[in-house]
Amino acid sequence: MGTASTPPALLPNDDSALDAQDTADDEPDTIAMKGTGSKSQRLPVRAKIEFTAIISEEAADPEKAGDFGITRFAKPTYKTRTIAREKGVFQVKATLASDIKIKVRAKHGPDGQTDIESDSDPAITRANYSMIVFDFTPYHGSNKPPCTHFWARDLTLKHERFHAGEDEAFAKQGTEDVQKQLNHVKKLDEETLQTMLDNTPDFVLGVVNVNMGDAGETRAYDDGIKSYQARADAIKAKGDSGTYPPPSPAQ
Ligand SMILES: [Zn+2]
Repeated sequence: MGTASTPPALLPNDDSALDAQDTADDEPDTIAMKGTGSKSQRLPVRAKIEFTAIISEEAADPEKAGDFGITRFAKPTYKTRTIAREKGVFQVKATLASDIKIKVRAKHGPDGQTDIESDSDPAITRANYSMIVFDFTPYHGSNKPPCTHFWARDLTLKHERFHAGEDEAFAKQGTEDVQKQLNHVKKLDEETLQTMLDNTPDFVLGVVNVNMGDAGETRAYDDGIKSYQARADAIKAKGDSGTYPPPSPAQ
């Protein structure tokens, strides 16, 4: 198998790791190999790696029974990936793409919650408006509205789009980080370079995962609080002034 230096299992997270690996070899092979095309020839890297998100939205039930909606970021794959030896450097050009899939329930919430799309939604009545106001008013100390009997599909979609936007931004950040690391390497052999490119999708996925989770959820609810509060306020104002009709016998 290849050279003594083992390529990182994942791309090292700081420039110094790569520089250290590079200098540890004392660069003997840079002069040992004449001509071009040798597998072990070590060259600087000039990398241009781009990331694209393919965001799709579906009116469908999330996998988890209790979820109103879900956003899934898929590990990126290469759409293009080339390495060329030009003017004494490895020219890397690559494009990564990830599917980001948003799913939001089509009509009812997970516990049969009624969708209230605006303050003039036909489902609002004189009898239920104060319950809707309660459901859309975020709890004290949390920006998450209870949504026990009522939900807002459009605001859920907005929440999921916020997640998708963050997924995309963190993936771009991870990709830029890889590009920067490659461009900072003094010299590298092609095998190591290929391994690093192989590891890049996992690295980018890792950057997204480490930045999302609970913190991402809090940011998404923080982003949505004004929209829920505005809807609750508008419904309360109309309800208090007697705008809504009495419940129909069918309800
Ligand atoms: Zn969320």
